This record gives sequence, structure tokens and C-alpha cells, in this order.
Amino acid sequence: MALSWNYKSADGIENGPFDEVRMKQFVLEGALKADTPVWSEKQGEWKKLSESELAGLFVHLLGAERENRKCKMCERISNPDELVEIEGLPCCAECKPVLIRRLQEGSVIPGYIVYGGFWVRTLAKILDWIIIGVIQIPFTIAYVISLSFFPESIITALIMFAYFILSMVVGVLFNIFFLTKYSATPGKMAFGLGLINADGTEKISWQKSMGRYFAEILGGMMMYIGYIIVVFDKEKRALHDYMCKTRVVYKR
Ligand SMILES: [Zn+2]
Repeated sequence: MALSWNYKSADGIENGPFDEVRMKQFVLEGALKADTPVWSEKQGEWKKLSESELAGLFVHLLGAERENRKCKMCERISNPDELVEIEGLPCCAECKPVLIRRLQEGSVIPGYIVYGGFWVRTLAKILDWIIIGVIQIPFTIAYVISLSFFPESIITALIMFAYFILSMVVGVLFNIFFLTKYSATPGKMAFGLGLINADGTEKISWQKSMGRYFAEILGGMMMYIGYIIVVFDKEKRALHDYMCKTRVVYKR
């Protein structure tokens, strides 16, 4: 293979020429980073490795390297010496206190799952209620107006029933849409939470999303005991998590 590549090390010194195999080894050894300037006659100018022809060759290697340098909390890429390791999790200095707090709050199992505890889940839930309330504003207005047209009649009861059903449909669709698409409702996302299945996979089926909605209503009807058991469960499961075999975890 042609000796066609040069690179500039961090101190600005040119090295080379090397062939592609050697360049690949440099990447593995960590001497070449995505932003290392590289030159070849064909290329005709200095370019970042990630923008050169070599980028295609090294895409997997760089990906793996990036994964090692990623803060597990904010997913920003840092230099290895700026990352601290807490219980085996690489983490940047900025996120360190947050990660420590989360590790204290939630239980941790191998694979670094941190479960969402009672309070953060309550806040996420309140946020979801507010969002659903906003989505329902047009229906609520229509509901109030139509009630004023038919005071105290059989139609009133029908309107109330229709509104009740409609609210439920909105709730079900809300759950199905967000859980199948993002494995999290907007409230959960806002707090960095998401759902996983008991086997650790993230893909939530629409049947499960729907079932979870009704299981949640059931837990709510029992004086919110369905929610309160989160406090006592080692995997922070609510009743609807038990019934649907789901866990609420921190996703970032
Ligand atoms: Zn971070």
C-alpha cells in the first residue's frame, strides 16, 4: 500500500508518510483523533481526519473512541483526563454531583441502570398532566359551552360522558404516541427519564403503552397506592410497571 498519509501531532510536528494500515493503528492507539490534521498528495491540503478520505475507513474506530470519551450523563465528548469514573461510569466534572446524587437516590444494578425515584416521577407526571390539559383546551371549551346550552337535561349527562371518553382517548393516544416513538412521555423526557422493558430493551409496543395507561388509572383509583409503592420497591416500580413489566430509568 502506498505511503501516502502524513499527520500533524498536537505539538504541530508533521509525521509520515505512512500507509493506511499504519494510520489505522494510530487511531487504535489514540495517537490520531477525529480532529487530527492529515494530509495526502491526492487530498492536496490539510484536513481534519474526520473530514478526510480516511474518515470512512475509521468511522467505527472513531465511534468506539468517542463512546469511551462520552460523559454518561450529558453525552458530551471530553478528553479522557477530564473524565472521572464513578462506579465505573465515565462522567465529566460538571455532571459529577448530579450522577452521585442520582446514584444515591436510585438503586443501581449492573449495566448502570439508575431508576427514577418517587419525587422525580411525580414531577414528571404533573408536567404530563399539564401538557394533556393544554391539549384538551379546545375540547374543554366546547364542553363548557355545550353544557351552558343544555342545562340539566339528559343531554348534559351525555355531554359529560362524551367528554370523559374523549379525555380518555386523548390520554391513550398521548401515551401511545410518545411511548412507542420515544419510550418516554414529555414529562419524563424533561427530567431525563424514560421507560425500558423488564429485559432492558427500550422499544415499547403500542399495546403496552395503552395497557400502562389503564393500569395507571387503576393504581390511581386505589388512593394512589399504585404510585406510592414506588417508594418501597427496590426497582422503583409503580403498580403499572408491575402490570406492564416496565421500569422508569434515567436515560442520560
Ligand atoms: Zn457531563
